[in-house]
Amino acid sequence: MKKILIANRGEIAVRIIRACNEMGIKAVAVYTDADRHALHVKKADEAYNIGPESVAGYLNVHRLVNLAVETGCDALHPGYGFLSENPLLASICRARRVKFIGPRSEVIRGMGDKTEARRSMIDAGIPVVPGSDGNLTSLQEASSVAERIGYPVMLKATSGGGGRGIRRCDTPEDLQRHFGRVVSEARKAFGTAEVFMEKAIVNPRHIELQVLADHHGNVIHLFERDCSIQRRHQKLVEIAPSPQLDDQTRARLGDYAIRAARAVGYTNAGTVEFLLDQNGEVYFMEMNTRLQVEHTVTEQITGIDIVQEQIRIADEHPLRHRQEDVVRRGFAMQFRINAEDPKNDFLPSFGQVTRYYAPGGPGVRTDGAIYTGYVIPPYYDSLCVKLTVWALNWEELIERSARALRDIGVAGVKTTIPYYQEILNTPGFRQARFDTGFVESHPELLNYSTHCPPQEVAAVIAASIAAHMGL
Ligand code: ADP
Ligand code: ADP
Ligand code: MG
Repeated sequence: MKKILIANRGEIAVRIIRACNEMGIKAVAVYTDADRHALHVKKADEAYNIGPESVAGYLNVHRLVNLAVETGCDALHPGYGFLSENPLLASICRARRVKFIGPRSEVIRGMGDKTEARRSMIDAGIPVVPGSDGNLTSLQEASSVAERIGYPVMLKATSGGGGRGIRRCDTPEDLQRHFGRVVSEARKAFGTAEVFMEKAIVNPRHIELQVLADHHGNVIHLFERDCSIQRRHQKLVEIAPSPQLDDQTRARLGDYAIRAARAVGYTNAGTVEFLLDQNGEVYFMEMNTRLQVEHTVTEQITGIDIVQEQIRIADEHPLRHRQEDVVRRGFAMQFRINAEDPKNDFLPSFGQVTRYYAPGGPGVRTDGAIYTGYVIPPYYDSLCVKLTVWALNWEELIERSARALRDIGVAGVKTTIPYYQEILNTPGFRQARFDTGFVESHPELLNYSTHCPPQEVAAVIAASIAAHMGL
């Protein structure tokens, strides 16, 4: 492979460019008008404007594949979000002889349909969350499934993703109230009104396994990530390995993940998500057939560059690592630093970054897409920097993370940094005892002071004057 088109933007496009750089592969970026000044455009070897439509530009399958062909790319990397789980993109790439850096189209389709994925896993002998056999066609059907599996239940969009289209129902009244809502939400967000039901596991842990599978029948896993720190079903902080998992469960999940990947003929990098209940039972939840936001923590504990492995796999090389060669060392934690105001219901805070100072020092990695003077456009995800911290043990990881969060400086927009500092100060978190109910059960995390030290104020003012004067 000599040249790759990156059908994405933001930090993940930059991340993929870095992998290409190290492999001697040319990286081709695409950008909309709103992204003229984006970092991925500056860092790529070539960059092409794909027009004025801020979001639709990154969703135009034919246009992107045509561009890959016209610019002589051997392959296309979809990143995450946007078209990354779109089976059509994978099949059109194939038809046009552009290697799609991800699994086969049929696998994306099969796993993207959560009820079909559940069926495949049941056939493979993997425990799934108790729930409906397939999609629910009416409220009556939903009610009878709920009676059978017992409340509380989760109504979920069959093609859902990004934490959307999920509602917990504690009573038949809740179900009655939410059913129509989830159906219409599913239709609007995912283009299909299909919904299904699962038993709601009370205060579970979200544990997911990273897998790599090549085109020669080799499948390995790179251990787990604990993504239990979530808000509204969206991940905020991710940790590898989970500090709250015994080795027996870890081994069992590793086996399930490999079995899951084999069962569907998986290739490339993927993630098998599980819920771990309070009794230590594990259940398959879904599989994400793409690179994930939180892949960095796995890279830090294993030393394996997952994006480079994705590229090699797509180029049909056999995996370079055998399962027994994959060793983990220490702990890593990722903070999704979003341009949002936690105190204002995490409302996105777009605008100019008047100052950005990246943290450094031992064990600190940043994957960002902002720079001093950059104006964060309002059309996209609010993720602006991923801070990934590594340390030899959990206690040191907490202290190093706190230090890195003090070290990083983002001014001009509100961010989730102070919120994460509060999480790190919470005894339950420090003691590695947390589940997906953590954020909801700690409303006091929002009580941080917004006091800004005087030197910070001066720096912000100086930076805005400089920006204004075009310095
Ligand atoms: P991860 O498990 O990698 O954190 P997320 O579920 O947070 O994945 O999704 C990663 C990104 O992709 C987020 O920006 C999210 O909003 C977006 N995303 C994921 N799946 C979908 C989907 N089906 N539809 C729209 N956006 C999605
Ligand atoms: P998405 O495709 O949006 O990532 P998931 O099915 O992975 O959706 O669910 C997202 C999150 O919602 C999970 O990480 C978990 O916290 C919560 N969740 C989903 N299903 C259940 C369930 N059956 N019981 C409890 N929590 C659930
Ligand atoms: Mg998920």
